[in-house]
Amino acid sequence: MKAVAVFPGKPNSIHLTEMPKPTVGEIPAGRGVLVKVLRVGVDGTDKEINAAEYGAAPEGFDFLVVGHESFGVVEQVGASVTEFAPGDYVVATVRRPGFSLYDQIGLQDMTTDGTYFERGINLRHGYMSEYYSDSADYLVKIPVGLKEVGVLLEPISVVVKGINQAYEIQRRLKVWRPRKAAVMGAGPIGLLATLSLRLRGLDVSVFSKEPKPNHRADLLEKIGARYVDTGQTPLKDGSAKYGPFDIIFEATGYSPLVFESMELVSKNGVLVLSSITGGQRTTEVPSDKINLGFVLGNKVMVGTVNASLHDFKESVRDMAMAEASYPGWLGCMFTHPVRGLENFRQLYAHLSDGALKAFVQVADQ
Ligand code: BGC
Ligand code: ZN
Repeated sequence: MKAVAVFPGKPNSIHLTEMPKPTVGEIPAGRGVLVKVLRVGVDGTDKEINAAEYGAAPEGFDFLVVGHESFGVVEQVGASVTEFAPGDYVVATVRRPGFSLYDQIGLQDMTTDGTYFERGINLRHGYMSEYYSDSADYLVKIPVGLKEVGVLLEPISVVVKGINQAYEIQRRLKVWRPRKAAVMGAGPIGLLATLSLRLRGLDVSVFSKEPKPNHRADLLEKIGARYVDTGQTPLKDGSAKYGPFDIIFEATGYSPLVFESMELVSKNGVLVLSSITGGQRTTEVPSDKINLGFVLGNKVMVGTVNASLHDFKESVRDMAMAEASYPGWLGCMFTHPVRGLENFRQLYAHLSDGALKAFVQVADQ
């Protein structure tokens, strides 16, 4: 079968390769599921992997099959699989268990290990191929009504995990009633975070440096969020006007904004950090002021990455709610569909040309 892969450590090594078709029998205990891949989405992590800034090949290989945002259809199941049947639409989770206590209870997204095993990212082949196989334990069923947007489940799960963590932490307050949220950044994660917060009934202001009008601002306004162009309205003014923010979700990829957000988050508020910043940037901050605000204001800041199987399942509900509340909105995120694995170069070019969301249609069903 065809697959798209990189040679980790070698910049811009993205290429098409041939591999044996996986089998259900490769997975232990009769728990194997063979999935025919229909779509695979790409994001900033894929860009970093192809730039050789991140990612490693599985043991015994010099290449890594890429792709961690999957959507496919079950073709065959092992003898001990009762929860899936051929014809079911599925999405696979990304991280596989390591060794910490958290990994042992299915919370590998919370691992304390030094090594991450992530399909399509680090030490495990991904999904950008005609087929993959995996244990039923790592798959999530997608209702047929969500088949056109199912490939967004993985990025949505990352967002939903972060927001659910915030709510979980805020149970400390007994009566927390968040009303206003800010989202920093209008990339795919920023947009999906806004959606999730709007579905929870919050007034959401999204701060982004791209001037209006633009596609992202249009999309955000369609779900009743406020787009704040920071060129016109600097963060502090926007916060004075539309805050105070009970929740801030940071998704710009620009770490200095974390410290500005620490100043802007309200008393008893929670700041969720989701940007993966692989660089070496340093920045000077008003540390006394930020610290004092945190102490006197009982504020919380939490980092979040990846998502558990439970978060993926919760996210399917969010997706269904999104389709019911804002029909067709999720589909508008797909600005750059590409057809066929052999067009991987075109797909990867969309990671640098301002595309909101690109995916490859691997097969039709
Ligand atoms: C993926 C996550 C992953 C993270 C770090 C993100 O792009 O969506 O699943 O944990 O990268 O590798
Ligand atoms: Zn990702």
